[in-house]
Amino acid sequence: MPIYEFECTKCTHAYERVMKIDEPYDDLECPSCGATKPKKLVTAFRTNAWSSFLDGMERKVSPEKFK
Ligand SMILES: [Zn+2]
Repeated sequence: MPIYEFECTKCTHAYERVMKIDEPYDDLECPSCGATKPKKLVTAFRTNAWSSFLDGMERKVSPEKFK
C-alpha cells in the first residue's frame, strides 16, 4: 500500500499514513491536535532511485558534507 502525506488544516502538522488507494481520509485525526479532514499532500513516492537522486543533488549543493 502506498504512503500518503497529510497536512492538518488546523495546526499544519504534517504526517504520513499507509492507506489503500481509494480509502477515504476525512476521518483521519491529526496526531498533534486531533483535528480531522486533513489536506492530502501530493505524494512523492519514495523510491531508492529518488533518494539517490536527492543525495546526488545535495552533494552538488553542499559537497563539504561528504568529505
Ligand atoms: Zn493538527
